[in-house]
Amino acid sequence: MGEFDLIRTFFTRPVRRAVLGVGDDCALLAPAPGMQLAISSDMLVEGRHFFADVDPHLLGHKALAVNLSDLAACGARPLAFTLALSLPRADTAWVGAFAQGLLALADAHQCELIGGDTTQGPLNICITVFGEVPAGQALLRSGARDGDDIYVSGSLGDARLALEALQGRLQLPPATLAAARQRLEAPSPRVALGQALRGIASSALDLSDGLLGDLGHILTQSNVGACIDTRLTSPLLAAAASLPLDEKLRRQCTLAGGDDYELCFTAAPALRTQVAAAAQASATPVTRIGSVQAQAGLRLLGADGEELLARYASFDHFSV
Ligand code: ADP
Ligand code: MG
Repeated sequence: MGEFDLIRTFFTRPVRRAVLGVGDDCALLAPAPGMQLAISSDMLVEGRHFFADVDPHLLGHKALAVNLSDLAACGARPLAFTLALSLPRADTAWVGAFAQGLLALADAHQCELIGGDTTQGPLNICITVFGEVPAGQALLRSGARDGDDIYVSGSLGDARLALEALQGRLQLPPATLAAARQRLEAPSPRVALGQALRGIASSALDLSDGLLGDLGHILTQSNVGACIDTRLTSPLLAAAASLPLDEKLRRQCTLAGGDDYELCFTAAPALRTQVAAAAQASATPVTRIGSVQAQAGLRLLGADGEELLARYASFDHFSV
């Protein structure tokens, strides 16, 4: 199958919200009056972000999920996306499954595929998402203030737990591995929570490289420090007692695991009821894990309230 047949078969659908979709030199979007466009790109590279033998359906899901997670972090509503795809060969079964996983998540969020590029080459997927947010209401990394509470959504560390097992460093019971693997391979972007936090959260970002490093971005850009409780743990990791998992690895997964695609955000203590209401309205659990402090730096509290050294480097493509 040639390039244009691939595009027509798998990536062309009737236009819904866009003014113009796949098939011309540009797609056209018409932002609603009073709205700003929120735009973000994420690239997934074989061998770097996923294994060569990954299920293409899951890969399609994840490629869009990580992008929707960025819109969620800004409190934006998804509108549309473009897909730049480099493929070693036109394997129609593979592309069909990839497109299915991708478009199912796109439909779930009413986010329309409006264009892209398709080329032969090493497997590489680059998506750009477009969302909308009322002018001036986007959640930014720079808004955290001394005294704000710090929260995370869902649970942290499951994806890293799966990675440890898949790379042979840890053996997990089949049910635990299946659940952790689901978190690694099919993350759920917290799109509804992000929008519900508009006007409530003082800052937000999504956790892709690990809590400590990512929270560090909020602290740096907001010119503040923080203290967090490291006892937070996921239900999967909470079963650590029955897993071959020591406390150090549990903390490593939770604090620096990466690939969580949860939201981390701050909000004034006076808004705790509103935060709880936003969590409930979006059916997304949130946990308060610490507070923002004027003093720069990130302080970690251990099980007995003692301070731990923050030695958990987060993921950085060029430092490993
Ligand atoms: P051009 O050469 O003008 O950049 P292309 O021939 O690359 O255009 O693409 C033809 C049309 O197909 C364009 O509208 C482009 O946006 C769309 N397209 C190409 N690849 C994809 C893809 N993977 N997913 C969705 N649309 C695509
Ligand atoms: Mg082209």
